[in-house]
Amino acid sequence: MTDATNNTRILLAARPHGEPTSEHFTVESVPVPEPADGEVLLRTIYLSLDPYMRGRMSAAKSYAAPVELGAVMEGGTVAEVVESRDPGLTPGDIVLAYTGWQAYGVAPARHVRKLDPAQAPISTALGVLGMPGFTAYAGLLEIGRPQPGETVVVAAAAGPVGSAVGQIARIKGARAVGIAGGPDKVAWLEELGFDVALDHRSPTFADDLEAAVPDGIDVYFENVGGHVWDAVLPRLNTYARVPVCGLVAHYNDTELPPGPDRSSRLMSTILTKSLTVRGFIQTEFVKTHHASFQSEAAGWLSDGSLRHREDVVDGLEQAPEAFAGLLKGKSFGKLLVRVGEDPTS
Ligand code: NDP
Repeated sequence: MTDATNNTRILLAARPHGEPTSEHFTVESVPVPEPADGEVLLRTIYLSLDPYMRGRMSAAKSYAAPVELGAVMEGGTVAEVVESRDPGLTPGDIVLAYTGWQAYGVAPARHVRKLDPAQAPISTALGVLGMPGFTAYAGLLEIGRPQPGETVVVAAAAGPVGSAVGQIARIKGARAVGIAGGPDKVAWLEELGFDVALDHRSPTFADDLEAAVPDGIDVYFENVGGHVWDAVLPRLNTYARVPVCGLVAHYNDTELPPGPDRSSRLMSTILTKSLTVRGFIQTEFVKTHHASFQSEAAGWLSDGSLRHREDVVDGLEQAPEAFAGLLKGKSFGKLLVRVGEDPTS
C-alpha cells in the first residue's frame, strides 16, 4: 500500500519474447513527484490490467508507441487527488487517469476525468463503465449491428469486453452465445442470461458450438483468434459481421502458428459469404459513441440488465504476475490491482 513520501513504481526492464515474466520488470522506490502549474498529484487506488499492455511491451510496429525500456508501464488508473495546481480539482477528488503502474503519478488536470462515487463504484470506471465496456458497446453496435433474433457469438466472454458484448446483444434482442475457459466461467455466463455458454477447453468444443448455433452465426465478436476462430469460421452466415477487437490467443506468439497457410481459404469464405470483417481500436469511436455509451451503460447497470464482475489483486508488486495470468485466462472478470486504500468503499 502507499506511503506519503515514497513512490513505488514498476518499470519495463526488458522486452518479452513470448510470455512476460517478473524478469521483464523492475520495481523501484523514488520520491513522490511534484505537480507543476495545471497539474495534479494523484494517489493510485486501482490500476487496470488490460491485454493491450502486451503490445506496449513489444517494439513491433503497432497502432500505439511502445513503452520505452526503463519507463513506467502504462495503464489506466482510478486515483485520488492529493495536491492540485489546477482550479478545477481539489484534494480528495476521485479521478480516472492514465498514470500507469505506480503508486503516485502527476498528470495535467485536463487529462483526467472527475468521477462521482455516488453514481457507481469508482472501480467501474476501468471496467463496465470504462474502456472495456465502451469497446464492447461501440464495436458490437457500430460494426456487429445485431438484429433481433440474430445469433451473436463472443469468446473471452467472462472478461469485461466479452461479458458486456453478450449482455448488450441480448438487450438488443439477439441470441447470445458465450465462450469461456472452464466450468466456473461457463456457469457465470449462464447466470448472466447468455442463451448458451460453452467451454472452449472441452474436447467437444467444435461440436458444442455447432449444436449451439443451429441457424448459424450472424455476428462473431472476435476477441481471441486461435482454435475458437477455427471453429467459428465455417458456421458464419452469409452477410455475417465480424468486429475484430482482439486476438489474445496470439499476443505471446513468437512465430506464425504451425500448419499450412490457410489465408486463401479465409479470403474465399469472406468472398463467397459476403462477410464484413472489420478491425477497430475503440478510440476511433469516442467522438461518435462515448456520450451515448455513458448514459445507456449507466442505465443498464442500475436496472440490472448489464452485470459485471471484478477480479481484484492487492498490491502493486503483484501486477506483473497478474498480467501474465490475464493472457492465459487466470483472471475472472475485470482484472484490477488495488494499489492503495479506496476511501469510497
Ligand atoms: P479478458 O479479461 O477477457 O482476458 C482475456 C481472456 O482471453 C482470458 O481471460 C481468457 O479467458 C481468454 N483467452 C486467452 N487465451 C485464449 C485462447 N487461446 N482461446 C480462447 N480464449 C482465450 O480481456 P478483455 O475483456 O480486457 O479484452 C478482451 C479482448 O478485447 C482482448 O483481445 C483485448 O486485446 C481486446 N480489446 C480490444 C480493444 C480495442 O480497442 N480493439 C480495447 C479493449 C480490449 P478464458 O478463461 O475464457 O479462456
